[in-house]
Amino acid sequence: MKDIQNKGIDTQVTHCGTNPDRTYGSAAPPIYQTSTFSFESANQGARRFAGEEDGYIYTRIGNPTINTLEEAVATLEGGYGALATASGMAAITTVFMTFLEQGAHIVSTDSVYGPSRVVVEKEFSRFGVKYNFVDTANPEEIKKHLRVNTKLIYIETPANPTIKLTDIQACADIAHKHGALLVVDNTFMTPVLQRPFDFGADIVIHSMTKALNGHTDVVAGIIISRNEELHLQVRRVLHSMGGTMDPHQSWLVLRGLRTLALRVKKAQSNAQKLAGFLEGHPKVEWVRYPGLQSHPQHQLALDQMKGFGFMISFEVKGGGEAGRTIMNNVEIPTLAVSLGGYESLIQHPASMTHAGMDAKSKEKAGITDGLVRLSVGCEDVNDLLDDLKHCLALI
Ligand SMILES: *Cc1c(COP(=O)(O)O)cnc(C)c1O
Repeated sequence: MKDIQNKGIDTQVTHCGTNPDRTYGSAAPPIYQTSTFSFESANQGARRFAGEEDGYIYTRIGNPTINTLEEAVATLEGGYGALATASGMAAITTVFMTFLEQGAHIVSTDSVYGPSRVVVEKEFSRFGVKYNFVDTANPEEIKKHLRVNTKLIYIETPANPTIKLTDIQACADIAHKHGALLVVDNTFMTPVLQRPFDFGADIVIHSMTKALNGHTDVVAGIIISRNEELHLQVRRVLHSMGGTMDPHQSWLVLRGLRTLALRVKKAQSNAQKLAGFLEGHPKVEWVRYPGLQSHPQHQLALDQMKGFGFMISFEVKGGGEAGRTIMNNVEIPTLAVSLGGYESLIQHPASMTHAGMDAKSKEKAGITDGLVRLSVGCEDVNDLLDDLKHCLALI
């Protein structure tokens, strides 16, 4: 592997991950599209299964193309190792399966990605897992809800779709004092803008469907662990539960990953301008973007983030109806869920990504009917501004 740990993020994104091809010297990593690997002898097969000899066995438990992607993302996050998964939800549920058991308790952000919450409330609860979803923007709320059996603190910062921030270091301190682990969903930031391990996180997960792949054409996830012990625990569960990645999927994500830093920086610069514009517009009720002075946690953003990201939430005067007018009339952003693509995407969390939450939880978490979420892409910012101006004139 090239020694790039101490290089700048643009260099790291360009060169992370070791190309497994030793035969032809291909510049791009090959796609090892195979389900299984042949042994030279029965004894060799036995040695590989016993862990006495390195080498591949079967793609669910390891494949060179997948490993290249895993090594690349582990490098970017500064973790010990990474495990690629079939989707972001496979990453999240694998971590829950690894560290929660019957009677175990999890404390999490009230406005996490909708399905991350619903899977705990509806599925893990069936196996006796206990939970509290609280406003983690105030770490005291986490402390208040700790129980003897609290095993995980699971946060998303910025949270989806309220753009509330959570202090990673404060959560790590609370978790470790209690003998629990801190898991951070870093999808909204990417390792270009936030490195949770630098603030004490134990596990970082991503939906690579979003900015890491960035091309709106693959569903994928990844779990990065701080140390070997955690990595091996997660690996055991992932390999037996089977939510692993496919070699072709890995190759596509690696291809997208090479432009991550470029895309994120361009989208973020667009987002800052759009957020400023929305904030100054008389028909806009409120805007949440960490790069605005008006964000209640702007200082925390400066402390733990290297940039303010590409996600904006806002509400226009006239609430849900007026919000729908905006979503139905924008010309450039695609009306679709997901985020972090090269193109702008707009959606309505209350009836789309967070529709699975009950009305009371939505209200408590601040997911109002008027909230519109915009994932800003890499278009010309003036075209995006003109588009929003035009739509705001319609309400
Ligand atoms: C999309 C998303 C997920 C789930 O990822 P999938 O790849 O859709 O399974 C988890 N967390 C966040 C923050 C997301 O945006």
